[in-house]
Amino acid sequence: MHEYSIVQGILDAVIPSAQQANANRVLAVRLRIGDMTEVVTESLMFLWDIACEERGELVEGAELVVEEVKPRSACVVCGTEFEHDRLHVRCPKCGSAQTLLLQGRELEITAIDVDV
Ligand SMILES: [Zn+2]
Repeated sequence: MHEYSIVQGILDAVIPSAQQANANRVLAVRLRIGDMTEVVTESLMFLWDIACEERGELVEGAELVVEEVKPRSACVVCGTEFEHDRLHVRCPKCGSAQTLLLQGRELEITAIDVDV
């Protein structure tokens, strides 16, 4: 499952940095997720709680805060920049389907809140 490996990957990054900061507990992890990644936020949240419990005290009960990033593209033909959803990537001005994705594929940890 796609979301499962993402959650494990996040924890693999979060746990060592929390330990390095001498944290007693991770309170929250903030993520930016682009809509084009096709990550299902609800599944991510659900798996997050389970995985945190498995990993023990340090991350138990940590909150996952997801900021969703709307996809944005530029038209290669006329240069118009526009927001769109996952399925409709077409220039609203000239109708071209030749577009360049500017944002929407993010999957990054922006902050880790810890209790020290
Ligand atoms: Zn265009």
